[in-house]
Amino acid sequence: MARVSIFDTTLRDGLKSPGTILSLEEKLRMARQLARLNVDVLDIGFPAASEEQFSAAERIIQEVKGPELCVLARATNLRDFDIAWNVLKHAPRGRLHTFVPVSRAYREHYLKKSLKETVEIAVKAIARAREYTDNVEFSLVDAFRADPEEVKAMVRAALKAGAAVVNLADTVGAATPSHVKSLLRFIGKQGESSGKGRLSIHCHNDLGLAVANSLAAIEGGAEQVHCTVNGIGERAGNAPLEEVLVALRAHGELFKKESGVKMEEIYPTCRLVSRLTGIGLQPHKPVVGSNVFVFEPVVPQLEDNEDKPPCEIIDPRELGADNVGDVLAAETGLEAFRNKLMELGYEFTEDQTSQYYEDFKDLAGKKGLVFDADLELLLGSRSPMMQVRYRLLYLNVTAGSISVPNATVQLEVDGQILQDAGFGHGPVDAAFKTICKIVRRFPKLVRYEVRAVTGGTDAQGEVSLRLEEGGCLVSGRAVDTDIVLASARALVDGLNKLESLQGEPPISEFTDMESWLPRL
Ligand code: MN
Repeated sequence: MARVSIFDTTLRDGLKSPGTILSLEEKLRMARQLARLNVDVLDIGFPAASEEQFSAAERIIQEVKGPELCVLARATNLRDFDIAWNVLKHAPRGRLHTFVPVSRAYREHYLKKSLKETVEIAVKAIARAREYTDNVEFSLVDAFRADPEEVKAMVRAALKAGAAVVNLADTVGAATPSHVKSLLRFIGKQGESSGKGRLSIHCHNDLGLAVANSLAAIEGGAEQVHCTVNGIGERAGNAPLEEVLVALRAHGELFKKESGVKMEEIYPTCRLVSRLTGIGLQPHKPVVGSNVFVFEPVVPQLEDNEDKPPCEIIDPRELGADNVGDVLAAETGLEAFRNKLMELGYEFTEDQTSQYYEDFKDLAGKKGLVFDADLELLLGSRSPMMQVRYRLLYLNVTAGSISVPNATVQLEVDGQILQDAGFGHGPVDAAFKTICKIVRRFPKLVRYEVRAVTGGTDAQGEVSLRLEEGGCLVSGRAVDTDIVLASARALVDGLNKLESLQGEPPISEFTDMESWLPRL
């Protein structure tokens, strides 16, 4: 069977989801897992965009082996290619990716250029990229709202200029499967006549058609699909990698194409991305939602039949659903712990390993069995943040049916120890109000979620939340066997992110205090 290449853009396009701010360590962790999933191409960002993106790409290239690594450069700014190559030259297999808008609406809005002028920009950019490498991908932005003849002219020029991959982007998520398939076929004929050049597709999910469109593109001859894990991305997101892969697997005969992805890494990857981004998975989310493999008997009198009902189109175990790994416990020795970290893809110094080992012993003392998911969270909780101004030192809450919920909090702010106490509608509310009072920062809590990381009442509670302040959205997350403590830490995590993005808080509005938090 022919191979369809999986181009993962979770780390670039996916992170355009509002409020997903990842530290360098978190990006690395995600990149390592994507390499373990065995995606063909890993999009590692846009180095010319910022110092931070440059160094993230640099670290990923140093540390992540396996997939081809791809970076973005603007066709309208040829210096981008020099910056991009400066980092990409260290990758064993590197790809330069550039793009121009092709639809009239996008050309006029972003470039104010005619098609002819836009083609010239594209050709110059591809030629510049070719000075560095043969491995050049060229994207046509908003290709499915453009005139097919104009798309064809642009593709022909790009192939002639030496693009190895031509990617058609449904940037606004407006395409339908039949249109995608016919445009790909139409353009494919063009590719054949001019020799090389593989076709690729990049779909957004605004009409809920990203997966269907990606599959239609494969039927139409696309050899590469752009995806993001869990479909994260701006607006309605991108084509979800796990759904495209499972559909391909379920209908391999129909598509006569297969991917080289390790299916058993799908669950661990989806869970990790959800944890790191703080974007949860809805229960009925295809492939990885919590309800997806729960079947109710359709006909109650047949309930005695102990065989599995014939409704699973794919076995969840094939996707690594119960891949919790070996379980560690309090008596696990340092050596076994170190091996476990290596197996999960972490590399630490001896000092760091023993620090984490102490944290792990603490956790094992509290909850007994420690699963891979617990460990991931534990390791994530210490990863270096961009800037830590606030630190939670102490929290005590009283709540229950006969007391007014109240919290006593001690925080370190800029090295100074501050404390206060306050009331609330519940323990979490009391803790949040007191913390915000101490730091004199009152963001709006736009989302708050508590989730059990593993099963059982001894499971760790993972809290993820989103804060909004002056138009800036950030996420915060934390984990503990005590969910009130986890909530307070998640809030402090979010406040630190706000601090590093926004600096000093806007003028405090104490009067607004009652209204900024929902009752918890
Ligand atoms: Mn996109």
